[in-house]
Amino acid sequence: MTREAILSYLTAPTADALFAEARRVRHATKGNGVFLRGLIELSSICDRNCLYCGMRHENPNVRRYAMQDDEIVACAALAAELNFGTVVLQAGECERLWTQARISQLIRRIKAETGQKITLSLGERSEADTAAWKAAGADRYLLRFETTDRSLFNRIHPGSPQTEEHPRIAQLKRMKAQGYEIGSGVMLGIPGQTLDSVVEDLLTFAELKLDMVGLGPYLKHPETPLGQSDQTSEVPVSADFTCRCYALTRLLLPNANIPSTTALSTLDPLNGRTLGLTSGANVFMPNLTPAFYREGYQIYPGKICVVAPQADSLDALKATFNELGLCQQQG
Ligand code: SAH
Repeated sequence: MTREAILSYLTAPTADALFAEARRVRHATKGNGVFLRGLIELSSICDRNCLYCGMRHENPNVRRYAMQDDEIVACAALAAELNFGTVVLQAGECERLWTQARISQLIRRIKAETGQKITLSLGERSEADTAAWKAAGADRYLLRFETTDRSLFNRIHPGSPQTEEHPRIAQLKRMKAQGYEIGSGVMLGIPGQTLDSVVEDLLTFAELKLDMVGLGPYLKHPETPLGQSDQTSEVPVSADFTCRCYALTRLLLPNANIPSTTALSTLDPLNGRTLGLTSGANVFMPNLTPAFYREGYQIYPGKICVVAPQADSLDALKATFNELGLCQQQG
């Protein structure tokens, strides 16, 4: 697909034909299955100061917590009980807490005790760390590059290395070579982001041959520098625009796993997940973080999530699948 074609899909008055084509391709490559991945938010302690994220180090109003290893393994056991197949271990960035050895041991325990596949989402880490975790049995790594626009990336990630290559794209390439399935993605509507850069983001997903692409609208957190600024973006923060990006990603990478994200459901609590699942997405990530920790993990306010242990929440999700002719698929 050319740059011009992508830009015109993103800006056309309506996108019904694009969504229909994405559904057709999704059906051809993925059938009617939806993968459920159990999200475990290991900790809200973070050494970084990303300008958009509520968990940033300098926000004093975050309830900081860190889960114990036994609690994490218990969440993975719950994912197995619910036939999910995969858990995603995500955390604020803190190497003191999540050392190479501790994560390696956690991976071995989760594999041995629950049989779940493991996706790591622990931010920017060294080649040695990700190699050790692969050797311990990790399957996938999720690291959004957030934007291909280097000056925007540098501005919203203070202290980011001034390397020639985008540090997160460099890490994704290293991990692909190490044998990981790699997932990435961007936020849509970051102040200062341009439509041209979103076109570049989409083309970069294809260039990197991503196995998984996570895309969500940027949501203002009032206790962050970006949340307090009046700067706007020419990229709309809307469910429609987010879904156009799901659909284009599906056409560019027909086999990719594409989640209908929590950020999309937070922006449009009523219709978000239906819109996501009918514009090319085939993955959903229910939250398995224990209730007494969950409110500490506020990357943006009002995070709406399917809370997996709560049967009513999961039943409602499965009812949505049913209405759309989809069903849970283990993997
Ligand atoms: N520390 C890990 C996990 C971060 S949270 C890492 O950096 O990889 C996971 C994702 O949430 C981020 O990659 C970012 O794309 C998204 N996110 C963070 N703050 C957000 C906000 N205010 N609005 C929307 N998405 C946000």
